[in-house]
Amino acid sequence: MNYYSTNRQSPVVDFKTATIQGQAPDKGLYFPQQLPVWEADWLKQLPDLTDEEIAFRVMKPYAGAVIPDDELFRICSETVNFPVPLVKLQNGVYALELYHGRTLAFKDIGARFMSRSLGYFMRQRNKPVTVLVATSGDTGGAVADGFYGVEGVEVVILYPKGKVSQVQEQQLTTFGGNIRAVRVNGRFDDCQALVKQAFLDRTITDQLFLTSANSINVARWLPQQFFYFFAMKQWPLEEVAPVIAVPSGNFGNICAGLLALVTGLPVRHFVAACNANDVVPRFLHGQEYEPHQAIATISNAMDVGNPSNFVRILELFHHERNRLKEALSAFSFSDAQTMDAIRQVYNGNDYLLDPHGAVGYLALKKYAQQHHDAPGLFLETAHPVKFYDVVEPIIGEKIPIPPSIEGVMSRPMQFTEMEADYATLKDYLWSGLG
Ligand SMILES: *Cc1c(COP(=O)(O)O)cnc(C)c1O
Repeated sequence: MNYYSTNRQSPVVDFKTATIQGQAPDKGLYFPQQLPVWEADWLKQLPDLTDEEIAFRVMKPYAGAVIPDDELFRICSETVNFPVPLVKLQNGVYALELYHGRTLAFKDIGARFMSRSLGYFMRQRNKPVTVLVATSGDTGGAVADGFYGVEGVEVVILYPKGKVSQVQEQQLTTFGGNIRAVRVNGRFDDCQALVKQAFLDRTITDQLFLTSANSINVARWLPQQFFYFFAMKQWPLEEVAPVIAVPSGNFGNICAGLLALVTGLPVRHFVAACNANDVVPRFLHGQEYEPHQAIATISNAMDVGNPSNFVRILELFHHERNRLKEALSAFSFSDAQTMDAIRQVYNGNDYLLDPHGAVGYLALKKYAQQHHDAPGLFLETAHPVKFYDVVEPIIGEKIPIPPSIEGVMSRPMQFTEMEADYATLKDYLWSGLG
C-alpha cells in the first residue's frame, strides 16, 4: 500500500516512510492510495475471530510489504492486549469501553501500534529519532507509555498548562528516561502549532530526525479501525446495523471508523459527538468550515478548534458534502448537558460515564430521537477516574483509583515550563542535541 499527501505536492511513499515522516513534506496528511474492500463473508466471521486476528487482518493491506507477517502479527497482538467490551446501558444503547489499556484511554491502541512499528523500523537504521507530539491530555500519556524504553527513540511531549487533568499530567510527566514533558503556557492548539512549526523548520530537521506521534501519523490513525471491528464482533442485534457515536476532537478516531465503513464494515451511520468546539457540526449543518481557537471544556481531550484529521474525512468522501452527510452527522453539547448526562446515567443506569463518553452518549441519543430510536453504541473513550476532578463533584462520590495507575499517581512530576513561543521551543530542542 502506498500513501499520497492530501496536498498532492509530495511524492507517494510506503507505510514505513509515512510512519517515519508523520506529516508529508508539503504539510498534507498521508492517505492510502487504494482502499481494501472487506468481504462480507469475512465480516460475518468476526464473532469467531480473536482480537489479534482481526487486528492483523485489518492492518495487513495498509502495512503492505514493509513489515513481515510474523512481525506485524506480533505488533498487533501486543497492541490489542486488553479487553474492549461492549456494555448494554439501555435498550438499543451500548457503550464500547476503550479504556482498559495502560493509560485508561483509547489512545493506547494507536500509541502502542505506532511505537512498536517505529521501533521495528528503527532497528533497521542507526540514527535515533525524536518523536515530537502535542497533547490535549490523553495522547501524551499513551505515547509516553508506548515509547518508554524503546531504543533509538527520544520523545518530547507538549501539553497545555492547566488544561489537562491531574491524572493525565501525572501520566505525562512521571516517566523520565527517554520521555520529556514540556508544559506550555497556552492551549492545545498552541502546542499543535508549535509542533507543526518545528516540522517545517529546516534548521531543526536537518539536525534532528523528527517525527510526530499525533493522530496525523498513519501508524496511529489506522489501527483505530480495530474498535469498529471489535464493536461489530460483539453487536448483538443481528438484523440492524448500529449507529456509532464517537466523541471527537481532532477527528482521527471517527475518521478511522468512516474508513472502516467505506471499505465495507456494516455500520448504519456515524455521529460525531462534540463539545463546544463545534467547527464540524456547523459545517455539516450547512455553514462554512471555520476553524477557531479551542474553547476549554470539561471534555478537554476534545478541545480542538482546528481538527487535523477532518481533511482526511473530506478525502474519503471526495470532498462532497452531501455524500459525507449520508454517512456522518455531528452534534455539539455544552458542559451543563454533559454533566446532566453523567448524573442521569449514573443514577438511572448505574453506569459511570467520563465527560467524553457522556458527550458520545448524548450524541447517540439525539440521533436516535430523530431516527425512530435507531439502536447504536457510543465509544467510552476514557476511564472516568482520569477526570475524577470533574466527575466526583457531579455524582457526589469518590471514584477509586485503579491499582494499575496507583504507581503513576505517587511518582514526582518532571517537566520543563515554556511560553507558547517557537524560539523558546527551538532552543529547547537544540539543547537536547548536545
Ligand atoms: C483524544 C480523545 C478524544 C478525541 O479523539 P480524536 O481522535 O482526537 O477525535 C476523545 N476522547 C478522549 C478521552 C480522548 O483522549
